[in-house]
Amino acid sequence: MNKNQETERGELTRFLDELQLLKKKDNFRTLPTLVHQGKEVIIGGERMLNLSSNDYLGLANDSGLLKAFWQTVKPEEIKFSSSSSRLLTGNFAAYDELEATLSSLFGTEAALVFNCGYHANTGILPAVCDTKTLILADKLIHASLIDGIRLSDAKCIRYRHNEYSQLERLVETYHKEYEQIIIVTESIFSMDGDEADLPRLVKLKRKYPNVLLYLDEAHAVGVRGTGGLGCAEAYGCISDIDFLVGTFGKALASSGAYIVCRQVIRDYLINKMRPFIFTTALPPVTLQWTSFVLRHLAEYQEKREHLAAISSNLRTGLQEKGYFSASASQIVPMIAGESSSAVRMAEELQRKGFYALPVRPPTVPEGTSRIRFSLTADVTEEEVKRVIATIRPVSSK
Ligand SMILES: *Cc1c(COP(=O)(O)O)cnc(C)c1O
Repeated sequence: MNKNQETERGELTRFLDELQLLKKKDNFRTLPTLVHQGKEVIIGGERMLNLSSNDYLGLANDSGLLKAFWQTVKPEEIKFSSSSSRLLTGNFAAYDELEATLSSLFGTEAALVFNCGYHANTGILPAVCDTKTLILADKLIHASLIDGIRLSDAKCIRYRHNEYSQLERLVETYHKEYEQIIIVTESIFSMDGDEADLPRLVKLKRKYPNVLLYLDEAHAVGVRGTGGLGCAEAYGCISDIDFLVGTFGKALASSGAYIVCRQVIRDYLINKMRPFIFTTALPPVTLQWTSFVLRHLAEYQEKREHLAAISSNLRTGLQEKGYFSASASQIVPMIAGESSSAVRMAEELQRKGFYALPVRPPTVPEGTSRIRFSLTADVTEEEVKRVIATIRPVSSK
């Protein structure tokens, strides 16, 4: 072994030790190998009902919808790559079409599409913030938003989750000190399934001319609003949200993300946003599929209502077993506490045919490891009853 290899092994020990530590705390992660069959997954030969999918409307499994889509494209014209950034030669007509569809559905001046929500959230804030910006961010925002804040020049204060009196005090204290304040929140929170109070946020924003709202609707688009456009649609406040962001990878059964906004913000992002500029644009076929699904989104009101009904059943069922949460959506956490208990609960559910997964730190705060149920419109009332029946009451643990 030469000297080089020896030092390399020494360096690797550090990684091995770190992984060992994760294993000891039950926080070690591996990639599961699975086969999808409709709403079920097959893992290691076991068939289970998928209760961990973000395919909230079941559209990713809708073979009829896919068939209808293929009839709208000519096989010889399908493009699986854009081969370039949008600022060079990657701006295919499918982009203009998708962005026109978005701004017309939302009724906004403009829309801009990104490769994914992670790109959107790590790119928009660094682009629009400077040292004279204060970001006030909910304590439980998604990691992609946290990374965006880290990359920005703004000063940031996190307010306690959904604690608007604290937020109001912060705005009152700082609005004169900063040129702009951006309030950053999700509408439906990804790990707790609870909701931000949009009317209250909008009221706060309207009181101050230099306060802007940034709303991530990743878990609400498709699911909320009569047109499926999210919580901002449901509360009639689309035009009050300065940065209204959503993703296509969840309920919309595609991939990518969007912002709907004023024209000036779109122009600014095209010129300043690094994850927009320095990346190969999404494949045109993906954009065509996204446009297709978007144009059908309003038709799925029955699916949205069913999803709301079974989610409510699951929440009530869990409460009756002694598990309380603030969830108001299809994301229903069952808090276990220690990671080891969450892992054990997941194993038990899986043995009984339900593919539910433990969520552990750093995704959620230490001591709040949980099973995160994530329901889709394909799940039946009967199946929810069966899930609840397998869960042991808190007191008997
Ligand atoms: C999933 C998610 C994202 C990331 O979106 P991708 O398109 O998967 O990169 C961003 N924000 C929230 C709240 C999410 O849940």
